Amino acid sequence: ATPTALLTGTGRGAQLGILVKDAETLERTRKIDTIVLNKTGTVTEGRMRLVTVVAAEGETRDEILALAGAVERASDHPIARAIDEAGNSALPVDEFAALPGLGVEGWVAGKWVLVGRRELVVQRWGELPRQLEEALGETAGTAVVVAWDGIARGVLVVADVVKPTSAQAVRELKALGLAPFLLTGDRAPVAEAVAAEVGVETVVAGLLPEGKVQAIRELQRQGRVVAMVGDGVNDAAALAQADLGIAMGKATDPAIEASDLTLVRRDLRVAADAIRLSRRTLATIR
Ligand code: ADP
Ligand code: MG
Repeated sequence: ATPTALLTGTGRGAQLGILVKDAETLERTRKIDTIVLNKTGTVTEGRMRLVTVVAAEGETRDEILALAGAVERASDHPIARAIDEAGNSALPVDEFAALPGLGVEGWVAGKWVLVGRRELVVQRWGELPRQLEEALGETAGTAVVVAWDGIARGVLVVADVVKPTSAQAVRELKALGLAPFLLTGDRAPVAEAVAAEVGVETVVAGLLPEGKVQAIRELQRQGRVVAMVGDGVNDAAALAQADLGIAMGKATDPAIEASDLTLVRRDLRVAADAIRLSRRTLATIR
């Protein structure tokens, strides 16, 4: 590939809102046969809203929301924004820590508060009250557990919507000969519903950030050349492991850093544009 041709390709890419990290990226794009999509913020809007609060016996909805909202204020995860908005809490948080792909924790009003996936809370503080287990079993939504001082206090269910362009994007990616996979840290029922809505047949759910890396490595072991599209801090390692990492608009800095391509618009169709463009550019220069 001549530098001039690559520049032309990259310039057209810039018009479409596709930023290319280096010249070899376009060459690599051509060999991709598999595309792994992260769910939250990639296939879905990543703008979550709180839909249900389940309080364990003896707990109040207001306190659960105020404490969870305060600790989530310091996180930029889509789940965090939904809980922060609903909690509308002015309480300060100390010693905040984000646990990527798991949840968040910190001191709020003299209590050590943990908000995150069920496994995180169980691992730290043991089994949940039966009432909360039942609430988790009954919802097909994205649900997180709120706990403080060693006890699980409630379950919050948040909901996201699929982007209107995602189904079309999946059709375009398939037409380009790519096999799509949906990879997510969210629960299986949510992941399967989203996959069905956009036409992706293969789903791997409940993954930790390291699990996403392993899933991609496994696809590579099968001889596949894998592109991955993601946007969160928790996607950075997987984006780096993929043969082609694609960060989606307003991605976190670690995600952009780990990627070869950045899409300015939060529209999955641009991933298909990028692959089409690079194939055309390389065809021209041969
Ligand atoms: P995805 O792979 O869909 O982008 P993540 O890896 O970001 O999902 O998150 C996986 C799971 O970890 C979430 O479904 C949630 O249970 C938990 N989690 C992550 N971040 C947070 C947070 N800030 N607050 C509560 N739970 C969180
Ligand atoms: Mg994500």
